[in-house]
This record gives sequence, C-alpha cells and structure tokens, in this order.
Amino acid sequence: MPVETLPPAPNLADYAQARQYFSWAAAQRLLSGLPDGRGLNIAYEAVDRHVATGRGGHVAIRAIGRTGTRDLTYRELSVLSNRFANLLRSLGVGPRDRVFTLLGRQPELYVAALGCWKNLSVLSPLFAAFGPEPIRNRLLLGDAQVLVTTTTLYRRKIAPQRDRLRGLRHVLLIDAPDRPPDDTLDLRTALDAQSGEWTIPATSPEAMALLHFTSGTTGTPKGAVHVHEAVVAHHITAGFALDLRPDDVFWCTADPGWVTGTSYGIVAPLTHGVTLLADDGDFDAARWYQVLADNHVTVWYTAPTALRMLMRAGSDLASRYDLSALRHIASVGEPLNPEVIWWARQTYKLSVHDNWWQTETGAIMISNYPSMPVRPGSMGRPMPGIEATVLRCGDDGRAAVTDDQVEVLGVDQVGELALRPGWPSMFRGYLHDEFRYRKAFAGGWYLTGDLARIDADGYFWFVGRADDVIKSSGHLVGPFEVESALLEHPAVTEAGVIGVPDEVAGEIVKAFVTLRPGYQPGETLRAELIAFGRRRLGAVAPREIAFDQNLPHTSSGKVMRRLLKARELGLPEGDLSTLERAR
Ligand code: ATP
Ligand code: MG
Repeated sequence: MPVETLPPAPNLADYAQARQYFSWAAAQRLLSGLPDGRGLNIAYEAVDRHVATGRGGHVAIRAIGRTGTRDLTYRELSVLSNRFANLLRSLGVGPRDRVFTLLGRQPELYVAALGCWKNLSVLSPLFAAFGPEPIRNRLLLGDAQVLVTTTTLYRRKIAPQRDRLRGLRHVLLIDAPDRPPDDTLDLRTALDAQSGEWTIPATSPEAMALLHFTSGTTGTPKGAVHVHEAVVAHHITAGFALDLRPDDVFWCTADPGWVTGTSYGIVAPLTHGVTLLADDGDFDAARWYQVLADNHVTVWYTAPTALRMLMRAGSDLASRYDLSALRHIASVGEPLNPEVIWWARQTYKLSVHDNWWQTETGAIMISNYPSMPVRPGSMGRPMPGIEATVLRCGDDGRAAVTDDQVEVLGVDQVGELALRPGWPSMFRGYLHDEFRYRKAFAGGWYLTGDLARIDADGYFWFVGRADDVIKSSGHLVGPFEVESALLEHPAVTEAGVIGVPDEVAGEIVKAFVTLRPGYQPGETLRAELIAFGRRRLGAVAPREIAFDQNLPHTSSGKVMRRLLKARELGLPEGDLSTLERAR
C-alpha cells in the first residue's frame, strides 16, 4: 500500500501510556480558553477558536432537512450565534437564565445552543416528540425563560397551555409565518436586526451551561446540571473514543433531547473542527445508508437499537451503498449485543465500538478504542483520567450507601459500577433534588446505578441496571446476557427480558422477543427458543417467552424493561413521558 493511503494512526495509540501520562490540566491545554485568560466557554472552543485560527471557511454543519441540504461554515456559525447572544441580551435574558429548545436537528438548534453559551445562559434541549405534559413539566422544573421551537410544535404543544407557563417570557419561532402567533417572535427577523459582533464575557469554568434530563428508563427523569468546564471532557473523550480529526465528516444520530445529542452531537465535533451532519429525518434504513454514502461520513456514532434495526433490514440493503469512507463506528445508550458486532463486521467490514456513559457523567467514561481489539459484549476500558471500579452490592442490588461499608470487588465479581468523581463533565447536581444527588455518592465514589464486572484484562462488562437485575433460584441474572443470547437465534431481532415473581425460584426469567421478517410466532418457535436459551444459558435461561413486535422503547431508543414488567404484573405504568409513541 503506498504510504499516503495508509490509515492514519488513531488518536489513542497506546492505551496504557495514555492513562499513565494523562492529566486533566494537560487535556485543558488542548483547548485555548477565552482570549486574555478570561476563563473557559464552550461556545468559544466550539466555534470562535476555529475562526481565530483561520479555519472559519470550513463547513461546520451540513444540515439535511426535508427540503434540502444547507452548509454552515464555522464563520457563519460564529456570526449567527453572536446575533443570537445579542438577541438574548436585548430581550433581557442574561447569565444563568434558562433557554430551552424544542427542535429537531435544524441549524437554528446549533445557533441557539452556541448563542446561549456565549451569553452565559443555560441551555436545556428537549426532545421534540414529547407530548404537552412532559414538555410543561420540564419547562416548569427548569425555570424556562426562553423557548426556541417551530410554529407547528408551538401551536400543538405550547399555545394551549401557555397560561400555565408564566415564567416563560419569550417564545422564538424558527419558521414563523408572516403574522406570528400572539406572544411569539419570529427568530429570523429578530436575528437579522442584531449585530453579528459579540465579545464573550469572562466565563468561570464552573458556570452552569447545560441542564439535561435523563432518559426516564428507570423512573421519573432527573435534571442533571453541567458546567462550561465540561467541554474539556467532551473534547478529549471524542478524540480518544470517536477518534475525531478536523477533516472528518461526523454523524451522531442521537437527538439533541438526549445528552449524546448535545455532548457529541453539538459540542465535541465542533471543538474538533469537523463537519458534522445534522440530519432532521426519521430512521429509515435505506435513507440512512444514503446519508452515509452521499456525505462520505467517516465517523458514525449511533445506538444499539438503530443497529439492530439495520440488521433487521439485512446486509443486502447495505451492500447497495458505497460506505467506503467510513473509518470508525461507535455505539452508546444500551448494551451492544455481540451478535450486532459480528453482523456489522461482515456487513460494514468494521467493528462497532461500544462505549458507556450517562447523562450524569456528561461524557464517555468507558470505551472500546480503535487501537484496542474489541471484545464483543464488553463496553471497553475506562478513559484516561477516569478511575472506575465495581463495588459490592447489598440485598437491594445497590452498593452500600454508608462510607464504611463500601467494598471494592475483585476480578469478574458483579457489583455496582462506580466512578471516582472529579472529571470536568461530572454533573454538579440534580436540579431541585439535593437529596437524590447526595445519595449518589459513598466512600469517595459516584454510584452509577448500573451493575458490571471487570475481567482480568481490565475490560468492563455491563450486567444490567440495578433496578432490572433478576434474582432467580439464587442466581443474579442480568437481562442483557439473556437478551444477547436470544439474539443469536436467527429468528430474533430484539428482546426485552424481565423477572416475574415465582414462589419457588423467587423470580423466573421471562423474555419478550421481536421476530425478524419471515418468522411466525407460535408454539413450535416458542419451544425452540426456550431450548435454545437453555443450551446457551443453563440455569438462567428464560422459562417464558412472549412474542412482541413492538417492544416499548424510550424516545432515546432504549428498551423500557420497567414498562414490560409493570404491564406483566398489572402494576401502574409510572412516568411514561419518554416512551416512544410511534416507531
Ligand atoms: P433514567 O436515569 O432516567 O432511568 P437513563 O439512565 O436511561 O434514564 P441516560 O443517562 O440517558 O438515562 O442513560 C444512561 C444509562 O444508559 C446508563 O446508566 C446505562 O444503564 C445505559 N447505558 C449507556 N451506555 C451503555 C452501554 N454502552 N452499555 C450498556 N448500558 C448503557
Ligand atoms: Mg440513569
């Protein structure tokens, strides 16, 4: 191979060395900070810095909308976000005030986010598919003063309840008609009236920047608070785990309503100076391949559900598109089943790099890196700068909450995944819920609520969420292991596994399975799947199988096991604000 066609060396070439020499202070020096030492601001690092260093003409955002494609350069994004910052100031919106967005991946989302940070206001992005009630709850909980949205969403979801949202002072419509609805502003006209010049005020790294709601997979969503300093973690982790370089075309498929869509859908790609794709369409396998091919996407960050749906659509479909520009694929949000990795290796000739993190951690904490062999089923190893461990759990499936009871477990023992606090994108609190925040710490560790084990080589394996783990005949069963085993059967494309109370066993394992096209539910297949499970899993195999072509998912794409369980047991369904309504 001629030298110039050799693949470039990955950003993280030597894991052990990177961990040994890593420091957050050095990571921060990869960014420039505000001119004249006036602090650290996400928007400066994401946009203005590139303009200052001569890359203003590079395309920052390629927005793929329903009516066409629009490119925005770093310079254009800088000017537009300056206008947005000026607009906020002219409306009397200042530092710490909350600016919510209810938008898809439209260019205005990025302009609003960056302009908001330039004005030291706090961004809180909401998922546009939420119904009126979850939107109201979050706007009220988050003390929203400004909302940026579309005319249709406003008319449908906000206008009918505007009188209950008294704190909401300004609604900015990105596509207002000639006569905007009462009490709204036309964003385009308002921006045109503003200056494109703006000096970012001095910004403390500890200034609040983001309010992000969790996915609501296990209960009522919590509002996690993040600060400007988080950008240090966004940047370095995207370098290591996503392998971003300035010439990349990067596609993060997550909605901005979820933390992935902000940390890696907005901030990190821009700090790396890449061209990011902002695709406003819904999932459709053929269209997604078209997007990857047409735009020569080099790095693709997506989620297990999406990959499982692509797998369901088949390898033949994938083979009709030229995906040769793709260099790196990563996945987050849910366990990534080994079957999906094997399929991807055959289909895309690339592995999928799973990584783990949470709204609370603000950035990727555990990851498979391009320079390390992927162990299918493992979420990888902790980031340089991140100390992760597994702590012994009590009977309630959670690690002890008193400091003196905390016990670090050894190789291959299952316990609660815990992280040593202190990285820049660590959440600084749950909004209005100090008690819950405090409860998340013990013995100098942050307790994640997930169960995991660490193998002899330091790879982390996800076992389940503490709330989801099944106790059956003395065994602790993680639903993921069972689901992944079922996925190895050719008929199964997705599975959700829960524990159902049983007098003898305590709980028995029940699986809800979605079948691939061409397979029919029935007693024969049920018996076959039970036998298949028993061969693979032995004592922890599912004893009951139900067929379900429509497993409940959160809008961020996770299987909602708690809902499967509530329905199974006839219990109240709980907070359904994040349930995906139509797929
Ligand atoms: P809530 O906290 O409201 O119940 P949530 O935990 O789903 O919702 P997020 O912060 O969006 O909200 O998701 C983080 C969680 O997603 C993790 O704690 C973990 O349970 C799961 N997760 C993320 N990445 C992975 C992964 N690679 N493998 C397994 N699970 C993952
Ligand atoms: Mg959570």
